[in-house]
Amino acid sequence: MKITNIRTKLYQWNGPVKTTDTVFATPVSLLPFQTDSQAAYRFFSWLVVEIETDEGYVGIGNAGLCPDVTKLIIDSKLKSLLIGENPMNTEYLYEKMYRSSVAYGRKGAVIAAISALDIALWDIKGLALKQPVFMLLGGRTKEYISTYYSRLYTRNLESLQKEAEHYKKEGFTGMKLRCGYPLTDGLAGMKKNVEMVKVVRETVGDDVEIMLEAYMGFNFPYAKQLLKELEPYNLRWVEELMLPDEIHNFAKLKQYTDIPLSGGEHEYTRFGFYDLLKADALDIFQFDTNRVGGFTEAQKICTMAHLHGVEVIPHGGQMHNLHVVMSSFASPMAEYFPQTEIEVGNEMFWYIFDGEAVAENGKLQLDDNKPGMGLTLKTEGLENFKIIE
Ligand SMILES: [Mg+2]
Repeated sequence: MKITNIRTKLYQWNGPVKTTDTVFATPVSLLPFQTDSQAAYRFFSWLVVEIETDEGYVGIGNAGLCPDVTKLIIDSKLKSLLIGENPMNTEYLYEKMYRSSVAYGRKGAVIAAISALDIALWDIKGLALKQPVFMLLGGRTKEYISTYYSRLYTRNLESLQKEAEHYKKEGFTGMKLRCGYPLTDGLAGMKKNVEMVKVVRETVGDDVEIMLEAYMGFNFPYAKQLLKELEPYNLRWVEELMLPDEIHNFAKLKQYTDIPLSGGEHEYTRFGFYDLLKADALDIFQFDTNRVGGFTEAQKICTMAHLHGVEVIPHGGQMHNLHVVMSSFASPMAEYFPQTEIEVGNEMFWYIFDGEAVAENGKLQLDDNKPGMGLTLKTEGLENFKIIE
């Protein structure tokens, strides 16, 4: 089998965007002169890649990170490395793309572009072998995939309470909220962040796991104090308290707290995660398969993590992550972004793909008989997208 063509499509959302009370800590929220500290992290486009073969199989991959830039990288740099190659050689092709781009790549948009292509290659492999991708990665390790509900964007306590009650009723046994108050709000803001957690804990009781997202928004002294204040609330984890490059500070932070620390949503490749493991910096890894290096790199990181007693709970739902969760003993559950109106970008994939797994009673199932990733591109309801090829 040979790769004959690669198409990249940028899905740009031009429809309505719901603006709600979505203020939370971000990496720029601790800088002066910020009027909208969320702006850099909302995204309203998505990259889809299709790899065509001479045997008629078409593999689908995607990148949510920096999609306009990843499109350019694929079109101008990576596409020519794959044309004419056998798509079944995923290990070789990953290495060819990684090594050819290493001078300007290594992390960020280049690895997201490689990830999109690697996912499409594994999709082809599954379609050709008539097996779901998770079967090729190691098969079924669990009866179903448990999920936690990832939303609670508001910092209005009453809305938080209502939302949390609702998710619990829907059968979710875990849910994640966001630190609504940035570092610049000082001690008063920290108290309010803790108050938000307290309200959710009191609403859902002791049997529901609660996670807290900090989205890289704090520094070491703030994080240390915040963790101390959060001790009574039995959190499942606190996520991305500092910048991803502060590996040394995460390692130090772990000495001060019993609350599990998670991160890795903005870390890349087996090399990046090896650095985290060596430093004993985190308890939970949260790579996204469409950023970290695709299935080829994700399965290596799962093996390393498992060996070190670190859990893998990928960022984002989406099929590319669910196949990893299903096939790895390192991974106890998946994140679940429900289908909602377009709000921050995380929910956009629901509008582009058919075949995404929908949670019932907080659980997801993958079909043993659906080959490849199990996804197709929507052909209807695309009126609000501008699709740039
Ligand atoms: Mg996160």
